[in-house]
Amino acid sequence: MRNEVKNYLRYLADMGEKDLPVGEIEAAQREKQAQTAPKKRTQKVSAGDKGRLLGELAEQIARCTKCELHRTRTNTVPGAGNPDADIMFIGEAPGADEDATGIPFVGRAGKLLDKFLAAIDIDRDEVFIANVLKCRPPNNRDPLPSEEAACMPYLLRQIEIIQPKIICCLGRVAAQALLKTKAPLSKMRGQMFSFHSIPMIVTYHPAAVLRNDRLKRFVMDDLRFLMSKYEEILEGEG
Ligand code: SF4
Repeated sequence: MRNEVKNYLRYLADMGEKDLPVGEIEAAQREKQAQTAPKKRTQKVSAGDKGRLLGELAEQIARCTKCELHRTRTNTVPGAGNPDADIMFIGEAPGADEDATGIPFVGRAGKLLDKFLAAIDIDRDEVFIANVLKCRPPNNRDPLPSEEAACMPYLLRQIEIIQPKIICCLGRVAAQALLKTKAPLSKMRGQMFSFHSIPMIVTYHPAAVLRNDRLKRFVMDDLRFLMSKYEEILEGEG
């Protein structure tokens, strides 16, 4: 109705009528649109604020006793990297080297991950790397569903803070935990998934590549797939 009135007033204005309240009606319309426009889902948070929030979360994780793994850990391993990363890697759980240092992916598997990243021109400092579990399971056994459930809120909060554009899941255990599936990793590769509305791909854990060298080329294919999707996302943002 307001549009019809406005159009009619415009018509009168075109016909030479003066002192018509077209401007007021347009201003009222703009105000109404602003009030009814959907609010943005996420607020832009500065890299500094993200770093501070991740630090506070890491302190909370260090005090965590929500599952039995707190009894056997040396250090919690919350995650490391760029708090403002576009790309996030998520593995399964800390191993012995990570438990000893509190830093994710520092053992042989971590060094191999660095090589994979270098092969796609990415520096470890550019991305954020975390695990589903923040404490090491004894003898590197698979995480229990109850441990995954207890620890998952920390990972979700990390994702919420970092707001990565794309996630790369490293290994069967992490992929099955995040996607709530029992599908083998070979069936999940080469597909785009969505984890809490963030695009996600899946590849082998570097530790699996250390055990089976033939997986190396699959990981490289997956990382190229990751980068092509990431570039598509950037192009889509203009
Ligand atoms: S694994 Fe996660 S939930 Fe369990 S004690 Fe460690 S931080 Fe807490």
